[in-house]
Amino acid sequence: MSDSFDVIVIGGGPAGYPAAIRAGQNKLSVACIDEWQNRDGSSAFGGTCLNAGCIPSKALLESTELYYRAQHEFAAHGVGIDGLRFDVAAMQKRKAGIVRQSTQGILQLFKGAGVTPLTGHGRLLAGLKVEFTAHDGAKRTLQAKHVVLATGSEPMPLRGVAFDGDRIVDSWGALEFAEVPKRLCVIGAGVIGLELGSVWRRLGAETVVLEALEQFLPMADGQLSKEAARHFKKQGLDIRLGAKVGAATMKSDGVHVAYTDAKGEQTLVVDRLIVAIGRRPFTKELLGKDSGVALDERGFVVVDEHCRTGAADIWAVGDCVRGPMLAHKGKEEGIAVADRIVGRFGEVNYKVIPSVIYTAPEIAWVGQTEEQAKAAGRQCKIGSFPFAASGRARAMEAGAGFCKLVADAGSDEILGIHIIGPMAGELIAEAVLAMEYSASSEDLQRTIHAHPTLSEALHEAALAADKRAIDIPNR
Ligand code: FAD
Ligand code: NAD
Repeated sequence: MSDSFDVIVIGGGPAGYPAAIRAGQNKLSVACIDEWQNRDGSSAFGGTCLNAGCIPSKALLESTELYYRAQHEFAAHGVGIDGLRFDVAAMQKRKAGIVRQSTQGILQLFKGAGVTPLTGHGRLLAGLKVEFTAHDGAKRTLQAKHVVLATGSEPMPLRGVAFDGDRIVDSWGALEFAEVPKRLCVIGAGVIGLELGSVWRRLGAETVVLEALEQFLPMADGQLSKEAARHFKKQGLDIRLGAKVGAATMKSDGVHVAYTDAKGEQTLVVDRLIVAIGRRPFTKELLGKDSGVALDERGFVVVDEHCRTGAADIWAVGDCVRGPMLAHKGKEEGIAVADRIVGRFGEVNYKVIPSVIYTAPEIAWVGQTEEQAKAAGRQCKIGSFPFAASGRARAMEAGAGFCKLVADAGSDEILGIHIIGPMAGELIAEAVLAMEYSASSEDLQRTIHAHPTLSEALHEAALAADKRAIDIPNR
């Protein structure tokens, strides 16, 4: 096998593997190095997202939502179930199968695009050389014309709380529970806390979520986070804001979590503790001396707006660089870099990156919140439409939530769209496309939406921005 490649990608997650595939499509010779190892020691491409993030979490969310709906919603449809039960082992087996299928699929895609997969550690040396250490310790020095760093991120640890991989776990551990904990605590009411907290809550765990900030979901539109908090409370997620965790200690009756809040010092005793307080860039043993690549004070690889590092022909994409830690953001960066390498146009529109929280109801948004638009000095007009007024949502027994559109009052340009409700993560795609083309609310108003669909809620929200909604009174 050649030790020389046009492009070497270090990291085979959702930022790295698309970069490798696109480079292959661009007729470049490409190797993709990835060191991921599963608990059983097997190697797998796909990074955090496919192995221990997006995909397994969504598999668990799907299974547990079905169970929740069977308990709480089926009766309204006339579906009665005696002896409903849940089999955690079956859920975990299904999830493992989905993960396996997804990660093995990458090897097939690599084959199709002519990408050489290398499992082991990659380290960038000076002169566009990469030291590759296979899992058995064998070393080779590879030569590249371009290197793409896509080494991702890892869970942020919390001082005073040591992971033991069993009772005190990170998000990966929380995806692997073999049984439902009776008492569960999640530290961090962010995306992971809400998604994985929901999974285990739906199966009956008494779930407390401790959040350091006083405000719930501060990154979301204020109305959205208020509506979300109401639903989570109804579902029994006990979210405690302003809770500063000091330490977690293992004792015979469980994990003792010590925290302070407005009322003073508190202790919570639980069977399992999940720490989900954010992630940090992962660049361990990545950069040899004189690699020429700089890290910032938080450990992110420093790049410009085109994902170029300070060293010639070395690029970096995904969670290891600035910007939201989202799989789709990394994917677009990876593709754009592989195109830029061959002189093609590559673009990532950082202003139009959708966010989705896959809880029930789902939460999704793109662009500016009402608060952000106003703080930026924009005169805004707002249109909202509740799913309770959507025929399709009512037919689905899913009338919770709303669509909200924020547009510039003068130019009518859409500044942001915020959805909480059924299939919000799918509905947001239309909003992303609209904003990608700088659409106005009138553009959405004049676009025909099939009836009866959930997407009509977005159409009506656009109409409501001009007080011309049909299916709700305009105020
Ligand atoms: P990673 O996926 O972390 O991949 C990096 C890869 O590089 C890894 O395989 C790693 O082993 C390898 N690597 C690192 N260093 C080296 C080295 N020196 N040599 C060789 N290999 C190396 N995002 C979403 O958009 N939607 C979601 O629904 C979503 N759900 C999530 C759920 C959970 C529980 C978690 C933890 C994350 C979730 N995310 C989600 C975030 C998403 O997983 C990340 O944004 C995404 O995986 C980042 O992609 P990446 O390729 O940059 O890094
Ligand atoms: P996050 O940043 O979404 O949330 C972390 C939360 O923990 C914040 O609310 C923060 O205020 C809180 N926190 C921080 N320190 C704390 C402390 N000491 N005590 C209590 N609370 C504390 O991070 P996350 O949920 O860990 O997720 C990590 C990354 O993975 C995120 O960037 C997210 O975008 C990504 N992710 C995305 C999805 C999705 O797109 N659906 C799902 C899961 C994860």
